[in-house]
Amino acid sequence: MVDLTRKYDVLVIGGGNAALCAAISARRSGASVLVLEAAPKFYRGGNTRHTRNMRCAHDSATDTLTGPYTEEEFWDDLLRVTQGHTDEALARFMIHESKDMLHWIVRQGVRFQPSLGGTLSLGRTNSFFLGGGRAMLNALYATAEALGVEVLYDAEVIDLEIRDGMFLSGTIVRAGAPVQIRAAALVAAAGGFEANIEWMKQYWGAVAENFLIRGTPYNRGTILKLLLDRGVEQIGDPTQCHAVAIDARAPKFDGGIITRLDCVVFGIVVNKHAQRFYDEGEDVWPKRYAIWGRLVAGQPDQIAYIIFDATSSELFMPSLYPAIEAPSLRELAGKLGLDADALEATVAGFNAAVRPGTFDHTVLDDCRTEGLDPPKTHWARPIRTAPFYAYPVRPGITFTYLGTRVNQQARILMADGTPSANMFAAGEIMAGNVLGRGYAAGMGMTIGSVFGRVAGREAAANAKN
Ligand SMILES: Cc1cc2nc3c(=O)[nH]c(=O)nc-3n(C[C@H](O)[C@H](O)[C@H](O)COP(=O)(O)OP(=O)(O)OC[C@H]3O[C@@H](n4cnc5c(N)ncnc54)[C@H](O)[C@@H]3O)c2cc1C
Repeated sequence: MVDLTRKYDVLVIGGGNAALCAAISARRSGASVLVLEAAPKFYRGGNTRHTRNMRCAHDSATDTLTGPYTEEEFWDDLLRVTQGHTDEALARFMIHESKDMLHWIVRQGVRFQPSLGGTLSLGRTNSFFLGGGRAMLNALYATAEALGVEVLYDAEVIDLEIRDGMFLSGTIVRAGAPVQIRAAALVAAAGGFEANIEWMKQYWGAVAENFLIRGTPYNRGTILKLLLDRGVEQIGDPTQCHAVAIDARAPKFDGGIITRLDCVVFGIVVNKHAQRFYDEGEDVWPKRYAIWGRLVAGQPDQIAYIIFDATSSELFMPSLYPAIEAPSLRELAGKLGLDADALEATVAGFNAAVRPGTFDHTVLDDCRTEGLDPPKTHWARPIRTAPFYAYPVRPGITFTYLGTRVNQQARILMADGTPSANMFAAGEIMAGNVLGRGYAAGMGMTIGSVFGRVAGREAAANAKN
């Protein structure tokens, strides 16, 4: 039974990877720790439940990873995907720490497995969790509880008492009444604000109504907003987020990984006017999948359709939903509610522009269009072999980048630049320090694990002083 009247050394808000890494780390440093998770136990773990892997630097192959992935290569990848929108010192610190994370996280009970085929070719850079994110979380919870970390579910924190940059207490509701919980230090690990559509609308306008949220409905940004309102320095552009194209038939929240569509490179993508709007073959999919959510968000009604034919139907991992199928493009257009003449004209124009080449979807091949705007620069093959297929897609928001500024101790900085006396942050809530924009697969978990571990250790040390 959790004693809500006592003062804990460390209060952790959130129940995902960042929170659990922080809680374990704080407890191992000798602190008493209470974790407050907004979700009920069954849904504990936020977006972490949906994850599959984590990106960590390593100097040589491991039993589940091939080849080296050096700190410098990780940094190069990060620099490229963020286009320089990152805090270099913090990013390099995270990358350096990620090397040890491969071992630390295993010591907390998490198991890895070699990557499976069809997983965005990440076998060298990303470690896959045996059993996926939920199994990973279960291991972390089991370890935390065995160490004596206390966990309260259905415990959404609705207010924070902060005075002059110092955390005093958090408020939850119990039996209809507010209860204040005191602690000597705070770790904020409560995710982004992607599930708060009203907040998203402040930056995106009405188009945000058509966003699907790939993860938990509990990441509503309550803690982020409270912290920013109480004088914490904000980091990141509020419109920046990780957003992919997902099946438009996915549920509003928590559709997870199985609604993602990775077949863009095999066909063309048209909007509701049956017009193409971007180069579907710009680069290999792992480097481009995270731009398609934003691209679809920019189209009328935030809907688009991936169109392909029988020659490609077995080249990618299927999603949860079957592709919409028809014996002709006209009939396919009818099923999609698209103008049949327009779709036929778009496909005919595309087919005519395709130049002969040697198709190989594992490399940047020479199959491309000529004289077409926008071009398809690789993997361009005519769409003419029945049956024809389509997937409707919408922007699937994974997580937002707006966050709290932190230093290398994961300590929150106040708007006047001074470090908070006792507040720390880890995970999505501070991801914007490293991810100003863009994304490389597996970094969400790296950010949470590395800064979670540091935040827990530092919060414990802070509480003891
Ligand atoms: C479908 C999907 C697949 C993904 N796959 C990967 C992957 O393979 N690799 C990768 O690196 N990243 C992946 N990500 C991103 C990854 O999930 C996140 O970056 C990571 O899980 C963030 O961890 P976190 O602990 O910061 O947040 P979360 O795991 O989202 O946890 C936030 C927690 O805060 C709780 N919370 C929120 N508000 C409150 C409040 N007011 N009071 C109390 N608790 C609160 C929530 O209930 C939740 O438990 C994926 C995301 C999705 C949606």
